[in-house]
Amino acid sequence: MRRPLIAGNWKMFKTVRESVSFVTDLRGRLRDVPDVDVVVAPTALALHAVATALQGDAIGVAAQNVHWEREGAFTGEMSAPMAREAGAQWVIIGHSERRTLFGETDDTVNRKVRAALVATLIPIVCVGETLPERESGQTLQVLDRQIQAGLDGVTGAELGTAVVAYEPVWAIGTGVTATPAQAQDAHAHIRLRLTQWFGVEAASRCRVLYGGSVKPENAAALMALPDVDGALVGGASLETAAFKKIVESARR
Ligand code: PEP
Repeated sequence: MRRPLIAGNWKMFKTVRESVSFVTDLRGRLRDVPDVDVVVAPTALALHAVATALQGDAIGVAAQNVHWEREGAFTGEMSAPMAREAGAQWVIIGHSERRTLFGETDDTVNRKVRAALVATLIPIVCVGETLPERESGQTLQVLDRQIQAGLDGVTGAELGTAVVAYEPVWAIGTGVTATPAQAQDAHAHIRLRLTQWFGVEAASRCRVLYGGSVKPENAAALMALPDVDGALVGGASLETAAFKKIVESARR
């Protein structure tokens, strides 16, 4: 049985001070919600302070992005070992905002995934189709391409610890959520491909999250789906009460 995971992607919200104050409140509120792994992804600037504030707590910390090189002349970037040293244990890779706004490709996603694994960061690899791709019936092909290329060279053992997040681009930050049927179809397909490409054992351990306008009101229906192991939450992760409700809805 896979343990549910709820990850909050704060994007470019919350200063260092706001981030620390948020997790200090959150850790108290989540004390009575066992059986669910919880991760927060602050900005790069707040990683160290948030990790320090959460020391000894079960809540994990994720970077929102890393570069694939260990170090070098890459102004504005942060490497996977740097994020690890700052206190991150996880990293979100290939978020659709990174793909659309910052030119990330399946190839750079793959380089980042491999760099994350070398640095012992757990990658949360985001995949998902745009609205035109869904409307033209290409959803499953897009998922196949993104997963195959993004996870190229990853071993079964590594996949077993990694996380895939299915995030239909048309559902991110729009208030439009995939229906449970749409989400289950995509998740079942992802699980099938992971099984074919990495084997039953690895695929059965890899958690597949749903992301895209998850809110307290729709979380329970999505979390109840057989192939949904949790959620990657944007907007609703910025507020402790809403985020706690989503975490509660993931309890098995
Ligand atoms: C996200 O940023 O990954 C996300 C799913 O955002 P939202 O929940 O706001 O749609």
